[in-house]
Amino acid sequence: MRLRNIKGSRETIAASPFAVCEEALAAYKGRWRARFGGRRLFVEIGMGKGRFIMELARRNPQDLFIGIEKYSSVLLRAIQKQEAEQLPNLVLVRMDAEKIGDAFAEGEIDGIYLNFSDPWPKDRHAHRRLTSGRFLERYRPLLAGDAVVEFKTDNGALFQFSLEQIAESGWKLLYSTEDLHRDARLMEQNIMTEYEEKFSSLGHPIYKCAFTKDV
Ligand code: SAM
Repeated sequence: MRLRNIKGSRETIAASPFAVCEEALAAYKGRWRARFGGRRLFVEIGMGKGRFIMELARRNPQDLFIGIEKYSSVLLRAIQKQEAEQLPNLVLVRMDAEKIGDAFAEGEIDGIYLNFSDPWPKDRHAHRRLTSGRFLERYRPLLAGDAVVEFKTDNGALFQFSLEQIAESGWKLLYSTEDLHRDARLMEQNIMTEYEEKFSSLGHPIYKCAFTKDV
């Protein structure tokens, strides 16, 4: 997935009307809906090439969707697809989720999607996992009271770690499954991500949970 060093990718992102780069975020914080419209605002962190969030945006034209990706070279693929389709309710942002507080104001987000986040298997890198307590605390103030965070992965160890972090950080678990693709009710609304398609076709079970602030 990390197609680093595609020549000119940063320049292409800076010039694209569909993308925002980290350096420009101050102008958008607290103003996303005023600038782009949308009843509610949903964010996917680590969207990769954007298949999931593009489909969400197609299905929900009344809401605004923001896809965040750390690497320009990966984001470029999503921009190319968005330039072809021009969904009016989708904005693509190049930024590291570490800085999510620079992008959104308190209570501005109505939901976060974390799909197949990097597992960072070494203990000493646990703080880099997007479901670590450190990241959950960054998300908390940015979420509206009823906002839901949804997390999918094929990595059992990351899933267990995430459930522990959710409980330890005082969030409320809404549901959890260790085999999403066998849960007919959850599958009704499921949108496959690129990684989900790849791993499920290899026979890996897909884990999913959803949680909310326990207010
Ligand atoms: N969500 C996609 C899917 O399910 O097909 C891509 C999954 S891929 C394993 C993880 C993605 O998250 C990569 O594109 C990676 O660059 C991005 N990512 C990892 N850490 C990030 C961070 N701190 N901030 C933003 N994006 C990040």
